[in-house]
Amino acid sequence: MLRITELKLPLDHSEQDLAAAIVAFLGIKPADLKSYTVFKRSYDARRGVMSLAYIIDMEVEGEARLLARFKDDIHVLATPDTSYHFVTQAPVTLAKRPVVVGFGPCGLLAALVLAQMGFKPIVLERGKKVRERTKDTWGLWRKNVLNPESNVQFGEGGAGTFSDGKLYSQIKDPRHLGRKVLTEFVKAGAPEEILFIAKPHIGTFRLVSMVEKMRAEIESLGGEIRFQQRVTDLHIDNGHIRGLTLADGSQIEADQVILALGHSARDTFEMLHQRGVFMEAKPFSVGFRIEHPQTMIDKVRWGKYAGHPILGAADYKLVHHASNGRAVYSFCMCPGGQVVAATSEEGRVVTNGMSQYSRAERNANSGLVVSINPEDYPGGALAGIAFQRALESHAYVLGGSTYEAPAQLVGDFLAGRASTAVGSVEPSYQPGVHWTDLATALPDFAISAMREALPEFGKKIRGYDMHDAVLTGVETRTSSPLRITRGEDLQSLNVKGLYPAGEGAGYAGGILSAGVDGIRVAEALALEITRQG
Ligand code: FAD
Repeated sequence: MLRITELKLPLDHSEQDLAAAIVAFLGIKPADLKSYTVFKRSYDARRGVMSLAYIIDMEVEGEARLLARFKDDIHVLATPDTSYHFVTQAPVTLAKRPVVVGFGPCGLLAALVLAQMGFKPIVLERGKKVRERTKDTWGLWRKNVLNPESNVQFGEGGAGTFSDGKLYSQIKDPRHLGRKVLTEFVKAGAPEEILFIAKPHIGTFRLVSMVEKMRAEIESLGGEIRFQQRVTDLHIDNGHIRGLTLADGSQIEADQVILALGHSARDTFEMLHQRGVFMEAKPFSVGFRIEHPQTMIDKVRWGKYAGHPILGAADYKLVHHASNGRAVYSFCMCPGGQVVAATSEEGRVVTNGMSQYSRAERNANSGLVVSINPEDYPGGALAGIAFQRALESHAYVLGGSTYEAPAQLVGDFLAGRASTAVGSVEPSYQPGVHWTDLATALPDFAISAMREALPEFGKKIRGYDMHDAVLTGVETRTSSPLRITRGEDLQSLNVKGLYPAGEGAGYAGGILSAGVDGIRVAEALALEITRQG
């Protein structure tokens, strides 16, 4: 197979144009191009002209001759192997089955890869199956009723299930594990384009059915997924994990446990800390969600190409380094989506964003967050949780203590006065917003950094600091406030057999990177079992 990179074509080209461009680029006869596939497609907007840039893999007559002819051209190479290869297979008899705690993207991919290698994992998930969980999640959004064990954070599929389903990441991935994650998602029903477009997303509804299909595959390979099974204790013997206790009092023996808890398992973090599992505070970010009309973002980002079906609803990425030393940046931007209630604890308000595959809702939303670090919340590994909780409880009160979120128009926020009514941008947060002054919702340094950043962002995206844009608070669950530190072998620094993984352990930030981390720990665990014989 041969690969060519940076093949550029106009936005509106046809399939034949693509084949013709390949043939012309290589200077071959059309009949010599036997087949081709798009490995990656991105857009390029240099000098005001929007074009598509391709990486193409192909079968072509006289491949060796072409490679020799293009040996000095970095855009022509032999196609690298990006397929996944299992690192080992389970022994015929397994003394004890590995256990995976948590069935978000990290636990899901860990369990799937373990099952595919023959390890028959047991998965323990505190929340419910995804369909039942959907009902509970809507209970908060539509009826102001929170189920602390079944919500946006907890349940089958984990935190990313009700999301925009963005599937890209900036992690280093020399073994192409991200491609294994995407390939499994496509097998489970995701659109094939996620394998080749530069910034794929799948939206909420598809994620729900994909998660069910992946669960079915794990079960068909001998794995087991047990729902409403909250892990409440660890049995550690001589520095090695030997088992777990569940909320119903039952116990499970296990010598290998993957902890894929997500960033909201605060009670479990507290238990791990009490048991002496090594962990440390780490930086994260806090802020608000901001909403604008999507059409405004499209016009600024796409110009005359706004509305083009290949481009879809536009996203953006912004960062400002404020004079007080804080970075203010856009986080988890959801084009054409809605702001969602994302608390997992009673009496607290947390925002996040989601969208459907079509990204057709009228507002663009994004987290607008400010970096914070452990010096802002001294007090040890769990201090970040206390800091988050204080902000979330205060937001609940500012919102009127009904799970409505406190909200303010950007113009009023900049002018330092409370908002009293909606402007031209209708907030999408369910169960509703309470107009107020957000000045006390975050620490002063965060508020002043945001007040400085918004007009700067308005210079990059004209209208970003428009008076009627809506701020909704508070966005506190941007990543884990702690790290459950692991060694080179991916096991806990001081409890062998315990593999902290994914976002909650501080080793991922997003669906794709959590899935990749799940595969990495599954491989490490599998190799450890094989090594022990
Ligand atoms: P999680 O997905 O949080 O899964 C952890 C699981 O562990 C949960 O199901 C939980 O119930 C379970 N658990 C916790 N404690 C216990 C216990 N004691 N016993 C048993 N089970 C337990 N990322 C993106 O890349 N793209 C997006 O578009 C995107 N949008 C998002 C939108 C929303 C609304 C939210 C909340 C998050 C979004 N994210 C997005 C972030 C993404 O969801 C997370 O980064 C990702 O889910 C982390 O995966 P994880 O498996 O590490 O943890």
